[in-house]
Amino acid sequence: MAGPELLASLAGASQDHEFYTPIPQGYTPGRTKYLVVTGSVISGLGKGIFASSLGSLLQARGLVVAPVKFDGYLNQDAGTLNPYRHGEVFVLDDGTECDMDLGSYERFLDRDLSALNYLTGGRVFAQVLQRERHGDYLGRDVQFIPHVTGEIKSFLRKLAISSGADLVVVEVGGTVGDIENGYFLEAMRELQYEEDGRNVMFANVTYVLRPRALGEQKSKAAQLGIRTLMALGIQPAIIACRADEPVSESVREKISIYSNVPVSRVVGLPDTESIYRVPVILHEAGLDEETIDLLGLRDRINAAAARGKQNDLVAFWEDFANRITGPRRELRVAITGKYTEVRDSYASIINALEHAGAGLGVRVSLRWVETTEIGGPDGAAKALEGVHGIIVPGGFGSRGIEGKIACVGYARTHKVPFLGLCLGFQVAVIEYARNCCNLPGAHSTEFALDAVHKVVDLLPEQKKLEGLGGNMRLGGRWVDIKPGTKAHELYGRERVRERFRHRYEANPEYIELVERAGLVFSGKAPDHPIMQILELPGHPFFVGTQFHPELISRPARPHPLFHSFVRACRDREGA
Ligand code: GLN
Repeated sequence: MAGPELLASLAGASQDHEFYTPIPQGYTPGRTKYLVVTGSVISGLGKGIFASSLGSLLQARGLVVAPVKFDGYLNQDAGTLNPYRHGEVFVLDDGTECDMDLGSYERFLDRDLSALNYLTGGRVFAQVLQRERHGDYLGRDVQFIPHVTGEIKSFLRKLAISSGADLVVVEVGGTVGDIENGYFLEAMRELQYEEDGRNVMFANVTYVLRPRALGEQKSKAAQLGIRTLMALGIQPAIIACRADEPVSESVREKISIYSNVPVSRVVGLPDTESIYRVPVILHEAGLDEETIDLLGLRDRINAAAARGKQNDLVAFWEDFANRITGPRRELRVAITGKYTEVRDSYASIINALEHAGAGLGVRVSLRWVETTEIGGPDGAAKALEGVHGIIVPGGFGSRGIEGKIACVGYARTHKVPFLGLCLGFQVAVIEYARNCCNLPGAHSTEFALDAVHKVVDLLPEQKKLEGLGGNMRLGGRWVDIKPGTKAHELYGRERVRERFRHRYEANPEYIELVERAGLVFSGKAPDHPIMQILELPGHPFFVGTQFHPELISRPARPHPLFHSFVRACRDREGA
């Protein structure tokens, strides 16, 4: 017995056998298909881009697609991860702090995701240990197999039920052979055994080396990586070969022979100028059609076509990628930040600027500004000379803070377009209070607990939480927009939803004073006196947001604030 019959016999059966696998109520075996994406040879190959691109092609064919990312580390979520080591912490609407790959999924699928789309090793173990204390394992010894793997399969099946997905796309983080993701891979092998081979398929993203001294591509590392996967009992059906240039026919053939995968499904995926070209490449290689056939989804595709639910996404991505990579006027935008060496820390900002630039026919090139070296206004003027715009992004901790304040001062007085994101919003409040409200002692209590004027202070709800750690005002919240302001003109609405991740806010006690001096708070929380957008009338573009608009910008829908910031940069005279 295997596949759906096995599953059906297990649901609700006694625990007195070796086939422990918790099947959530309401699960229909065979209703949902699974595409599992793994990586071999090295990490950082863009498995997330591959998985989300393929997912987006299948979604465009009318299928309901639900993505999920497995991360092997023992953190329960990404909230405590240092972006310098791990890339940006992405925040979902429900407040989940997660891996930046979830940002790719949201951008490619143009959908909001939730905690159901993200699972870390830490969360799996926390749940298993909790169940053990609860006595849920009925006296059995608790083991990696079947209990840890059972928890993972159960998570997927719950996602299948709640999303109603035709296809769940699972990305297993890390590289085949890592201890960290071994139990996730084992769970996926078991899933295929239980669900039947026709309902679960694997794709492996591997890497083809080209040592400079040899000048030719070598497939050996890829072969060994795929063999490691096969030794775990997993037979890939698709192999995507990342490489720095087009993958040669002979390398694809060698990999095919080694891995039992027909050469038509061993696909080259060379570096591209834009990630948004990947869906086009996968479509041209026929991987969407192959996946549809391998998983037996043809009928559902036909049914969707009959209902007119398909759209020509390939043409959209092609046009979008052409706009991004085509010749365009270049704008220089300075970005101040702590993690200046690591582009991944600012992935969503870079994406949001690309989305806006594509629509406006310009390319934004970033000038990273290390603010610890700026000192005061003179340093800022030197570092920012000739830029079209300035972004002060989110951040934590006091490092370089005076330099950031000086940069905002430069933007304000030299009328350079300015966008302050979260910490950047708070820095703008400090700068304005110090230099336009005659409060030289103004600061944030994040950086100066004994500041004379605490113009940025802990949120009241955070004061209650102090000492608990790891708690922030997180996720999607409503923002009321003041009619007649620039924010109102840009959004064209009086209430918008944006995503937050912060502990501090503009101190309500100083709002009146600051507004009297000219700064306008044009966005507020509906039910608290929390300021969420600021703007400076008479300046070409001076906007700060307590939220992170970059998190919700999508290729098809550039964020209005980024769009208008980039437009102001484009129109800046004299730069
Ligand atoms: N450190 C600031 C706060 O906690 C800003 C946070 C951020 O930029 N994400 O409020």
